[in-house]
Amino acid sequence: LTILMLLGFSLSIALLVWWLLGRPRSMEGELKRALRAREFVPYLQPLVSSIDGKVLGAEVLMRWQHPSSGLVRPDLFIPQAEESGIIVPMTQLLMQTVAQQLSQWQQRLPTGFHIGFNISAVHCRDLSLLAECRAFLDHFPPGQLVLVLELTERELLVATPTTLALFKGLDDMGVLLAIDDFGTGHSSLLYLQQFHVDYLKIDQSFISKIGTESLSEHIVDNVIDLGTRLGLALVAEGVETQAQAEYLRGKGVDYLQGYLFGHPVPLRQFCNERLPQEVTAQPMRG
Ligand code: C2E
Ligand code: MG
Ligand code: MG
Ligand code: MG
Repeated sequence: LTILMLLGFSLSIALLVWWLLGRPRSMEGELKRALRAREFVPYLQPLVSSIDGKVLGAEVLMRWQHPSSGLVRPDLFIPQAEESGIIVPMTQLLMQTVAQQLSQWQQRLPTGFHIGFNISAVHCRDLSLLAECRAFLDHFPPGQLVLVLELTERELLVATPTTLALFKGLDDMGVLLAIDDFGTGHSSLLYLQQFHVDYLKIDQSFISKIGTESLSEHIVDNVIDLGTRLGLALVAEGVETQAQAEYLRGKGVDYLQGYLFGHPVPLRQFCNERLPQEVTAQPMRG
């Protein structure tokens, strides 16, 4: 009996150790496999002008096309990918894929089309992003695309000689910097002070309460005021209703994004449906 109890005990310890160590490691292994299999694909969501609703650009949102689970949303795998650092090669693959596919639509891309990527803080620990952005832009004629990097705030990004050199280099290249989910992170205001920021993206948690909760409305108004005083462009995220869009337009927010204007869709579908049709020559009258 003692031997059986001992066996049972050591088995549960082994299970616990497996659960603690094996589970996260298998997720990392699964991400590595998926990276080799190129299962991370770009979905694009339009960025529209608040004045006339014209599509001015798009944000690239990563999706995991899993062989058995189907389409996996980023909140289920990005945090683990950031923890292990594998988000860096995943983002590199995403940028390469978008550059290759989007460059096939060059004739239909409006000049100055904005294309935004979400960049994790781990990706800013060295200068590799500079070469990756250069390679991305080299797929397009100069000035055709405006590359925007959206900094998420799950991890704190601090001003080190490397990050300062990185953002200086990006700025020199004409790459724009956006603060994503503005108002929800602890470092937002520090970012504004330390890095050359071009855009603020007002978080959808504030936008969604426009018209129903005055506190959120005050926060939105104050972010708009801050952005305007600092000469930054403003983007509202998660716009779902006409009333929200009207409110934001009235306050002078330039760019809107949200389900009201379009869900994220595969790159090819976005280009087919949302880029202006090629101007075809009028047929000659004989
Ligand atoms: P985010 O960058 O703030 O992206 C906006 C999220 O809001 C997207 O979720 C988008 O699908 C969703 N959304 C857009 N419009 C609406 C709306 O009107 N209503 C609602 N309820 N939601 C809306 P998604 O695609 O699930 O991405 C979640 C987050 O995952 C992103 O938030 C971003 O932080 C992260 N993420 C996505 N792709 C990447 C990536 O390639 N790299 C990194 N590092 N992070 C990524
Ligand atoms: Mg974003
Ligand atoms: Mg700049
Ligand atoms: Mg956001």
